[in-house]
Amino acid sequence: MARYRGSVCRLCRREGIKLYLKGSRCETAKCAIEKRAYPPGQHGQGRTKFSEYGVQLREKQKVKRIYGILEKPFRNYFFAANKKKGATGENLLQNLELRFDNVVYRMGLAPSRNAARQLVRHKHFTVNGKKMDVPSYILKQGDTIAPNPNKSKKKPVNLAIENIKDKNLPEWLSFDADSKQGVVQAMPAREDVAMPIEEQLIVELYSR
Ligand code: SF4
Repeated sequence: MARYRGSVCRLCRREGIKLYLKGSRCETAKCAIEKRAYPPGQHGQGRTKFSEYGVQLREKQKVKRIYGILEKPFRNYFFAANKKKGATGENLLQNLELRFDNVVYRMGLAPSRNAARQLVRHKHFTVNGKKMDVPSYILKQGDTIAPNPNKSKKKPVNLAIENIKDKNLPEWLSFDADSKQGVVQAMPAREDVAMPIEEQLIVELYSR
């Protein structure tokens, strides 16, 4: 499956905000945004103004990068959101939040969405008791997520579960560290999206 293989800190610098793509490093002074808060490249410190199209494009790129999705699948998410009842932008964000890799990350079972994707691909989790290795799988309300018992001795997931007690999970998710089981308690609402996103700009971009 195609994926971006370049420097992820470069992506944050391009968008001008922390996208939290590198786990714990993002909270430290080593974060590239802390050290060089301007776009990458030779002319990074030059042009600062964007056209209306440029602003819409940057917002779309930002959301793609937050969730680690390439252009074609992202466009498909948009068209699927457009077909659903309700506000297209909110439908889009809801579907992105419900991706399996995002839920693993938001439950605190992985330090970043990239790490979550890798753990999912390597079959470290089950959904409703069945092995699931598709990061883009869209979860539903009531779905349960648990570590794969055949892989449970692997350190990253166990360490994450130990630390999960200290985390404030979003209200639509829960995780019981004793039974090692997480549940999608509700469909995520617009206010549950933690990152600053103006989804209307993306709707405008694709409506051109
Ligand atoms: Fe972005 Fe994290 Fe890199 Fe900082 S350390 S630039 S937040 S990926």
